[in-house]
Amino acid sequence: MLTGLEIYKLLPKTNCKKCGFPTCLAFAMSLAAKKVLLTQCPDISEHTKQILLQATEPPIRTINVGKYKIGGETVLFRHEKTFYNPSLLGVLLKDTFSKEEIINRLKKFKELSFERVGNKYRTEMICVVSVKEDLIILEHIFNSINEIVKDNTDNNEIVVSFLSHDIDIVENFIKRYKLNLIGSANTNNYKSFVTIANNYKVGLIVEGKDLDEISCLTTQITGLGFRDLVIKVSSDKETKILEDLTQIRRLALKKNFSPFGYPTILICDDNDTTSNLSKSIIGILKYASIVVINSADTELHFPLITLRLNIYTDPQKPVSIEPKLYKIGGEPGSDAPLMVTTNFSLTYYSVEPEIINSKIPSWLLVIDADGLSVLTAWAAEKFNAEKIVDWIKKESVEQKVKHKTLIIPGYVAIINSKLNNLLPDWKIVIGPKEASGIPKFLKSMWKK
Ligand code: SF4
Repeated sequence: MLTGLEIYKLLPKTNCKKCGFPTCLAFAMSLAAKKVLLTQCPDISEHTKQILLQATEPPIRTINVGKYKIGGETVLFRHEKTFYNPSLLGVLLKDTFSKEEIINRLKKFKELSFERVGNKYRTEMICVVSVKEDLIILEHIFNSINEIVKDNTDNNEIVVSFLSHDIDIVENFIKRYKLNLIGSANTNNYKSFVTIANNYKVGLIVEGKDLDEISCLTTQITGLGFRDLVIKVSSDKETKILEDLTQIRRLALKKNFSPFGYPTILICDDNDTTSNLSKSIIGILKYASIVVINSADTELHFPLITLRLNIYTDPQKPVSIEPKLYKIGGEPGSDAPLMVTTNFSLTYYSVEPEIINSKIPSWLLVIDADGLSVLTAWAAEKFNAEKIVDWIKKESVEQKVKHKTLIIPGYVAIINSKLNNLLPDWKIVIGPKEASGIPKFLKSMWKK
């Protein structure tokens, strides 16, 4: 890794400010701290770019698994900056399962898709593990997966990984089925695995009896010129999983120990729900890039998807929705109620269902308040009378709503007089403080 001063020596040193920084030195310091991207400086020569890209590459490699990216993380704790690439969640299928168990598990896997605050999320991966090299069962598994992948109309792609120690079996299936990740390469078979992974352009899972062996293995494989590696972590004990995942991340980030600069896969192969759940929680919280679970139960996957959403949300960026004039609860006419709020998504998704509950189709003007909630935005002067007036104009509200009555959140009743001054021919009505008060308010106050 280069220091800020070393990076500065390679920059054009014109202080042109095109990168948004006052000087090249300031940009170099931020680049060294991995707070900005090299592409922000448009004047770096191609040659220098290559040197800097290699030197400033994240210490953990980013790998593509289908359309998803894994790895590429730059911090140990999300509050230091953010975590970038959410852990993929997978369901385990083994060739020790009966045909009936396989069908049942895949049927459940298909249902592992959830909608939350307007977005769809799902468990993305099916991880096939060959324990006894049963070709008939494996054929049945991949055939059934093929059908699911073909029928998948979801935007969220389904990806498939296959682990076997028999290189011939892996080659047999990768020739005929779409696989995104293969393994497990160990000290005995890694050369053949690298050849196949190279030929089919897929990532390679590596495993060893301990972290020392894994570090030797990744070093040997990178010596062959192959770097799309994923380190496999598994143990019967939660503490050991936590220890290994933490050591891999810590050594990669803090010591720039390149043999551990790769994403990780945690396979939770337990038969009881509690162990599966506790291990997968550790995996999501503590650095596993892929978490595979020996279950496809909704009650296990749904909380894990929610946990993943929490961990992989940028803590410095409030979750926001598009600011605009929304129609809620049907087709509001020009005499329908008009309410205003901020674009903090939690606020929107608290207000929206309450308007629907009222059964009175309404207009909801959502203004850009940098994704802050009503009171916070008001305190930061991002939700005030002037802004509301701007958004009324921007969204041509007067062409859609004829009554010129605006309901404002009860918490910002204080902006009432200013709004009256700025909108003299409008009537400003103070609405409820909490979203839960909206149905009662609309049914009683609005009708009056
Ligand atoms: S854009 Fe490049 S040359 Fe210009 S100030 Fe930034 S780092 Fe320096």
